[in-house]
Amino acid sequence: MRKMRKVAIYGKGGIGKSTTTQNTVAGLVEMGRKVMVVGCDPKADSTRLLLGGLAQKSVLDTLREEGEDVELENIRKAGYGGTWCVESGGPEPGVGCAGRGIITSINMLESLGAYEESEGLDYAFYDVLGDVVCGGFAMPIRDGKAEEIYIVCSGEMMAMYAANNISKGIMKFAQSGAVRLGGLICNSRNVDNEKEMIQEFAKKLGTQMIYFVPRDNDVQRAEINRKTVIEWKPEAKQADEYRGLAKAIDGNQFFVIPKPLAIEELEKLLMDYGLMS
Ligand code: ADP
Ligand code: MG
Repeated sequence: MRKMRKVAIYGKGGIGKSTTTQNTVAGLVEMGRKVMVVGCDPKADSTRLLLGGLAQKSVLDTLREEGEDVELENIRKAGYGGTWCVESGGPEPGVGCAGRGIITSINMLESLGAYEESEGLDYAFYDVLGDVVCGGFAMPIRDGKAEEIYIVCSGEMMAMYAANNISKGIMKFAQSGAVRLGGLICNSRNVDNEKEMIQEFAKKLGTQMIYFVPRDNDVQRAEINRKTVIEWKPEAKQADEYRGLAKAIDGNQFFVIPKPLAIEELEKLLMDYGLMS
């Protein structure tokens, strides 16, 4: 019997979570994996590249408009390569907790049977907004909703700072649950010594840099066409990078409770590597 892997992707806003998640999921699809992507960001743009456009309605929209009596087909849409795409959505701007959509969505998906074995899922991916792991945004890593976390970061200070904070959250929830950190995904911003610095950062956290994703304008070109790079230009070099990341995640066996750095340690790392060149 195969076991579904429950993966959450965290990282600073704008770092490339949604892009990296969907492009990697396209790579997993090529490997024959069945995947559901659950967008956990009020922006509701976590599935745009897989769906070929923004989702028409989020789970919260659907509940608001149709009441509690919804069916699975109202909240999940089929996307690229047979992926299932869900957007939690958010409250009206300025009203209520932005994390609530996540809780509502996951509970709804569970009660409607989206995770059942008959669905044949190999993976559920949660694309979670979260510079800080607070309230609703911690939901996927509480109660074992997601057991495997990857943090997208770069060599920019704020991205590393956010990754360290997210590690604190994971550490907290890991004491009582199954959640573990599977690695850092370095989504390059072409910072000096970036690869070496993130490798060292990962090592200090007790984890690994699972993959170094280069910065490449084909990502934007595919995005304009509302597609992942793998779908838009399968022969592109960047498509191979996402295949590489998909493979690394699929074969990953290194899961840890992270050891967050003290702020002084983090700053020293930035200084050591930043001044090296
Ligand atoms: P997040 O979901 O973390 O807020 P996004 O995935 O929306 O971030 O990415 C923000 C922007 O960065 C997008 O416009 C995307 O095209 C761009 N981007 C992400 N990764 C790369 C990359 N490896 N190369 C070039 N552009 C990238
Ligand atoms: Mg996003």
